Amino acid sequence: PPLYIQRYEFVIDFVKKNKPKKVVDLGCNDCTLLRKLKFHKEIELLAGLDIDCAVIRAKMYELAPIPTDYLQPGDHPLTIKLYQGSVTERDPRTKGFDLVTSIELIEHLQLEDVDRFTEVVFGYMAPVAAIISTPNADFNPLLPGLTGFRHYDHKFEWTKVEFQTWALKVCKEFGYVVAFTGVGQIPAQEESIGFCSQIGVFQIDRSGGDAPRLQNNVAEEHLPYRVLYNVVY
Ligand code: SAM
Repeated sequence: PPLYIQRYEFVIDFVKKNKPKKVVDLGCNDCTLLRKLKFHKEIELLAGLDIDCAVIRAKMYELAPIPTDYLQPGDHPLTIKLYQGSVTERDPRTKGFDLVTSIELIEHLQLEDVDRFTEVVFGYMAPVAAIISTPNADFNPLLPGLTGFRHYDHKFEWTKVEFQTWALKVCKEFGYVVAFTGVGQIPAQEESIGFCSQIGVFQIDRSGGDAPRLQNNVAEEHLPYRVLYNVVY
């Protein structure tokens, strides 16, 4: 399958194994991943955020219930919420999630915004787990005809070492552990090159006992994200 499908499959496998109840996809684009996730009945709250309102709106009504959602209901209702906003801003409605996904998003941010993203995701949203994917620059010489970045809108592409340096700093600063993996490998390639898309799977580090988790206090806080879609079924 194409690489983007492999990235979605990676997230879906994680969801099947870890059964998160609340999932938010950052940079959800046209909600393709969210449409796949809505069939996982353990999920109670599925949220998506993108800065681009038109791209969310393009297909968001495909998240509406279909007859089988009523014929084979889960044990609890599913809430789907879509927001327009930037991952550089804190919005209390994204706190307390079990899983945050950020698939091929960070390389579209300026480096100072990556710092904001890091603080917002790990310091503020503080999910139980986060899956972050980004291109692996070490792999680029294996891509035929590629000069420069893989996409004109990429602000950077990190090597394995650069990505891992960032990720380990995140762990130290915010109390997470990370496992490095990825999708897309050429058979018999040098193992040191790694995957075409590199992925960090972060889990909150509970080895020091449960840290007191921040309570949502939605009423008192500023809500910078704009609600584009909200359905419960
Ligand atoms: N996650 C999707 C996927 O894997 O197919 C889409 C990836 S697309 C390459 C990057 C997405 O990030 C775009 O939809 C873009 O609008 C969004 N994006 C870029 N900057 C953003 C920001 N500051 N806050 C939220 N979304 C942003």
